[in-house]
Amino acid sequence: PEAFEAMRKALAAVRAQFGRHYPLIIGGERVHTPATITSTNPSNPSEVVGVSAKAGIAEADAALDAAWRAFKTWRDWPQEHRSRVLLKAAQIMKRRQRELEAWLVYEIGKNWVEAAADVAEAIDFTRYYALSALKYKDGAPVVPYPGEDNEAFYIPLGVGVVIAPWNFPLAILTGMTVAPIAVGNCVVAKPAEDTVVIAAKLFEILEEAGLPAGVANYLPGEGSEVGAYLVQHPRTRFINFTGSLEVGLKINESAARLSPGQIWLKRVFLELGGKDGLIVDETADIAAAAQATVQSAFGFQGQKCSAASRLIVVDGIYDQLMEQVLDRTESLIVGPAEENPDMGPVASAQQEKTVLSYIEIGQQEARLVLGGRRLEGGGFFISPTVFEDVSPDARIAQEEIFGPVLSVIRVPDFDTALEVANGTRFGLTGGVFSRKRERLERARREFHVGNLYFNRKITGALVGVQPFGGFNLSGTDTKAGGPDYLLNFLQMKSVTERF
Ligand code: NAD
Repeated sequence: PEAFEAMRKALAAVRAQFGRHYPLIIGGERVHTPATITSTNPSNPSEVVGVSAKAGIAEADAALDAAWRAFKTWRDWPQEHRSRVLLKAAQIMKRRQRELEAWLVYEIGKNWVEAAADVAEAIDFTRYYALSALKYKDGAPVVPYPGEDNEAFYIPLGVGVVIAPWNFPLAILTGMTVAPIAVGNCVVAKPAEDTVVIAAKLFEILEEAGLPAGVANYLPGEGSEVGAYLVQHPRTRFINFTGSLEVGLKINESAARLSPGQIWLKRVFLELGGKDGLIVDETADIAAAAQATVQSAFGFQGQKCSAASRLIVVDGIYDQLMEQVLDRTESLIVGPAEENPDMGPVASAQQEKTVLSYIEIGQQEARLVLGGRRLEGGGFFISPTVFEDVSPDARIAQEEIFGPVLSVIRVPDFDTALEVANGTRFGLTGGVFSRKRERLERARREFHVGNLYFNRKITGALVGVQPFGGFNLSGTDTKAGGPDYLLNFLQMKSVTERF
């Protein structure tokens, strides 16, 4: 009850700040621009949550300049000092936890639980990377070799670009920003257009924590304009991207091209989409499997790269499982996110359009058994949707919909289930419900995904517990929140001295 009361207060306080303007932050300066981005509430799109400045090419150039300037000193800060600033930032996020959650509720339509998870993950990333960075603080000891001494140590890469999606607008942006700066790099960060307010909060917090000007520059703008410009820029050393496969592939190509004046190769980190399969066999705990399916498929309206979007069911258990899945799905309450329903709106008019168009495609390919409708209420509300009799190669079983749509595929046996599960271009998360040890063992070896879950819900990962990142076209498998993630942003130098 206390947390609920605090949340109600936070929602009211945040609402009182609706419509505020947020500038860019370049080299510590607040920059206002004639062009703006308006962020609205997907539960009620007539409400303006905030208005952000919008960067163009000139501001992108200025941000890269500022970042390179800041790099000259930030790279030489003692690691303890860098880590201390970030731990302070985590502390501020913790103190402002409910407020940040409230912004997420209003700006992107997360219910309270999903909003709390987003903020908690941002705090976890910040602490984890700040502490992990201490591992790299000393050069390796000098190793004597006949006639010479050798040492090897890590140094940062320089300036990189962070490009983030809207679906975990605080956690993912925070993780992708904090990791490279923790080990001495500087960044220019471009948030998603739909979530500029919560993004602005992060950069205010980093500044308040004492991050020097220019180390993290805040540059909201259009992806295809300013994002694409930053990616191809000859002064960009690395690109830390999370988003769709389509955009990821463009970035991969453009970053590989050598620009005039560029004398280095860019490192490109891509965390992309998924078409995550959950297998349920005839030995499974049906109630647990049904609950996990519904939570995973419809949590945050299915707008998670880790959401179960294909339910692959072995014949013998099909009817019993589906009865429970449909019962549970039917009872989900959809409504304005501020009322903390099971499901809020999808994120934007664009999302609504995409999801509804996939529902239309699905009706031609399979049998719609639940949902499939836009709901009244003014927001972008879509009822949770289930398709049965989906063929493994149907478009709704192969393409990422990124909405509240579950495709159910019936298979004769476990072997086929595994084959179907592996039969997409993606390989992000996957799950198996089974009581047969040898099947879990087989899945462990053969289910080709970055994050595999047995007898529990498929989901994103806990920082420091499940290193997160996908195989195949789900990305470059950078394993965010894993023990080696920071190495992505470091290079090793060895120095040999003859005596
Ligand atoms: P998106 O690819 O449309 O946009 C992501 C970012 O890229 C935005 O900031 C956008 O402005 C920018 N962008 C767009 N075009 C660009 C271009 N040509 N050059 C440079 N930047 C450009 O993705 P989205 O709709 O914001 O997010 C949803 C997607 O993200 C889904 O596919 C989801 O699976 C994926 N995702 C993956 C993970 C993961 O960890 N693997 C996590 C969350 C989301």
